[in-house]
This record gives sequence, C-alpha cells and structure tokens, in this order.
Amino acid sequence: MSFSHLGLSDKVLGAIDAAGYKTPTPIQDQAIPHVLQRRDVLGIAQTGTGKTAAFVLPMLTMLEKGRARARMPRTLILEPTRELAAQVEEQFIKYGKNHKLNVALIIGGVSFGDQDAKLVRGVDVLIATPGRLLDHSERGRLLLSGVELLVIDEADRMLDMGFIPDIERIGKLVPFTRQTLFFTATMPPEIQRIADNFLHNPVRVEVSKPATAATTITQLKVATGRDSHEKRDTLRRLISSAEGFKNAIVFCNRKREVAQLHRSLVQHKFNAAALHGDLDQSARTAALESFRNGDVSLLVASDVAARGLDIPAVSHIFNFDVPHHPDDYVHRIGRTGRAGLSGTAITIVAPIDSKSMTAIERLIGQTIPWMGEPAAPAEAHDSRPRERERHPRGQRQERQRPAHQAAPRKQ
Ligand code: AMP
Repeated sequence: MSFSHLGLSDKVLGAIDAAGYKTPTPIQDQAIPHVLQRRDVLGIAQTGTGKTAAFVLPMLTMLEKGRARARMPRTLILEPTRELAAQVEEQFIKYGKNHKLNVALIIGGVSFGDQDAKLVRGVDVLIATPGRLLDHSERGRLLLSGVELLVIDEADRMLDMGFIPDIERIGKLVPFTRQTLFFTATMPPEIQRIADNFLHNPVRVEVSKPATAATTITQLKVATGRDSHEKRDTLRRLISSAEGFKNAIVFCNRKREVAQLHRSLVQHKFNAAALHGDLDQSARTAALESFRNGDVSLLVASDVAARGLDIPAVSHIFNFDVPHHPDDYVHRIGRTGRAGLSGTAITIVAPIDSKSMTAIERLIGQTIPWMGEPAAPAEAHDSRPRERERHPRGQRQERQRPAHQAAPRKQ
C-alpha cells in the first residue's frame, strides 16, 4: 500500500517520496484520512511508530489553504519536552520542503525576544512546551483564538511531568470549534478524563507497542548490591564485556543520578554524555548530537529527557536503575532493536528493586532471564530487606553477593 490513497496533497507526496518512504505505517494509514476529514483523533501509539508524520503530513496538506496572521497561530502542537518539540519542527522542515509555511518553536531555555519576533511575523504551525507557551500568552504576545487544529502529543508523559493543569488552561484559550488530535502511549484513567474533555466524537486509532512487537531485543537482568558504587562497578563491567557493543543509552531514575553517573563514567575514561532536565538547551542539544554522530558512545539519561528522542540504531540499553513505572521500562528498551536491528537491554537489579522488577515482568508477560547468578532468593521478597532493617547496625547479616561481582570499593 502506498501513500497515494490517503488524500495527501501532491506537495506532501513529493516530500514523502524525497524522504524515501514507500509505505505508510499503521498509525499513518489509519489516522491520516480522518485528520483530513477534520475529525478529532485519539491515537494510542508510542514513539517509533511513525506517529509524528501521522499528524504532520495531513497538517501540511490542510495548511496549504489560508495564511497566518500576526500573533495568531493557525495550528498548535504541544510537546512535553524541548527535544520532542525540536524533533517535530525537524519533521515539518523535512516534509514541508515544498511549502512556504512559517513554523515557530516556543520552548523554555531560549531567548524570548527571538520567539516573539517569529510570532509577530505570523505563524502557521506553533510547536510549544506548555509552560513557555503560557508565558507568551500571559504577556499578551500570543493569541490562541485563531487555532484551527490542536495536537496534544505524548499526553501520558505530560501527566507524569505535571503539565495537565497547563494543558487544561491552554484548552480554554483555543476555540471550542477547533479540531483536536490527541496522542498517548498509554491510557490511564486520568488521561482518559483529559481525552474526554478535549475530544469531540473522536476516531480511536491504536497501534501495538513497539516493545511488545520487537522480538529482536534480548532482555537480561543482572544482580547487584544496593550501594551506588557497587552498581557503578557492575555497569562498567557490563559495558566493557558487552557483546556487539556499538553504543548505549544508560537510564537512571533521577537527574541527580544522571549527573553523578556521567561524572563517574568520564573519570573511568568512558566516552559518555549526559542528558537530563537541568541542563540548558545548548548542553542538551550538544549531548544528543555527539551521541547521534558517534563522538560519544554512551548517553546517560533520565526518562523524561530521553522521551521520544529519535536515536537510530542503539546496540544496548542499560538500566542503571530499575524504573518505578513498568511503562518506562517498555519505552526504554524500545530504544534498541529498532527497525529489525537486534539489540540488548540489560537491567541492573539491586535488592530494593524486586517489586518494580516483578511489575515490569508482569506487564511484558515474561520473566527476564538473569545474566550470571540470580539475586539471592532471600532478596527476592520485599518483606525481607525491611525485616533486616530492624536489626541494629553491625548486627545485620552480610548479604550474599553473587560470585561474579567485584567486591565493593570505596568511592
Ligand atoms: P516517530 O514515531 O514519529 O518518532 O517516527 C519514528 C521514525 O520513523 C522517524 O525517524 C521517522 O522519520 C520514521 N518514519 C515515519 N514514517 C515512516 C514511514 N512511513 N516509513 C519509514 N519511516 C518512517
């Protein structure tokens, strides 16, 4: 099946051809005709499914009629992170190469003045993170009353990041009659509530999660002690002995850990960059670029910073921390084994992580095999460590460390 039956304009079809895409992905196939018929769409799809083009391509077709007025964007796309916003902009540039549309990016961490100048010129497509968008709107520099189409992308991540009140405020600033496209990877009740609020009689389009479909990912877990220096030691050993290693993303749960682990890896002469929410925009862009072009082979990242990034061909994922939300595990490992390439995802499991690990295995419907010795059985139950915690210091039993692990070292 080609793109020709979807109702896209010739200009857009020309750009798709130039991009080398032959067949629409399932989300594109199912969503694009409805978008072009001005229906609201509820898309349940993860990054990696081609969901960005599923809204960018019909938007370009629709924007061919009409023109922008100063400070009144015609369409608005909300993204949870600056990186995702920048990636959507890149796609507009790529697929909109035959159009003369004004695209503006309104994200935190860059100058207000430049953004304001773009708004004055008139914007066809405004891609924004919620906080900065509201800043512009509250300063009276931006009117959302001309928005004909609103895209809310990665809605479940917006929820995780606490952006839902901002999204609801933005919802009151755009016209009631606009068309809305709403994308989310998961559908917890709170997201269902927002979707019900924002969408009118939507078409529901759901595509399977790449991680459940990708059988090319080898998943393993490795037992370690609870101290962070022990975990770092385990990680270094895993990286050094990884088979077929080309590059890896190392995930931590918190930005402080990202920074700490990055420093430690660099001290140990590993070629690593860090990506977390406290870095300014230029540092984030530089880190990502150095990883993309192969200058560094390790990217230490938090979930939020890495969400949705399109990084092709990662050979390994290391979960330095077991994610608290099982869905994050699926997102993380989806970074490898893409497009038929094989990949390996290794999770470092400390005794404290057993509950989170069980939740992950329940979600993915399989038990991840241990690499080397499994964790000591006593540590597999959540009640046990708590039980031990009650013993006064010095009287605790020494935990059994798997034989293959190095002895803990002083930091
Ligand atoms: P996304 O899910 O939007 O992050 O897209 C994932 C990747 O798939 C991006 O690198 C897109 O450029 C690419 N892509 C999108 N649509 C197609 C298609 N129909 N055929 C091949 N690649 C595509």
